[in-house]
Amino acid sequence: MPAPTSISSGKSRTSAAAEDYLERIRELIRRKGYARVIDIASELQISQASVTTMIQRLDAEGLVKHEKYRGMVLTSAGEAVASRIAHRHELLTTFLRQLGLPEAVISHDVEGLEHHVSGETFRAIERLSRYLQDNPDVASRLRG
Ligand code: ZN
Repeated sequence: MPAPTSISSGKSRTSAAAEDYLERIRELIRRKGYARVIDIASELQISQASVTTMIQRLDAEGLVKHEKYRGMVLTSAGEAVASRIAHRHELLTTFLRQLGLPEAVISHDVEGLEHHVSGETFRAIERLSRYLQDNPDVASRLRG
């Protein structure tokens, strides 16, 4: 058995919940130009009080900032986490579609996978997805 290599998705990284917030905030800012507590609460279907608590945590970690006239913004560190998750979300969705899975299963599973798959596994999936893209015959045989 090969020696275990370091796994890059450990506890030292941002938590899945924090990543979800950053992903939603980024999406809201792109879509509407701003992200208010009330919008985040309705997107994630949780109370405004919980959103406020998490925002304070993200603020303390230097991931978001409240600006007087622009409202909530992502710092460059927050933007880096959010765009990493958005990239994972997109690629994992594409990959599961290549396997012919139903959309409901895809959106459910991607929300978990995007946070929990290690960098190593993610890069392997990325390579496999590219291979399937380049070999549509193999992809269609997989879908049965
Ligand atoms: Zn996602």
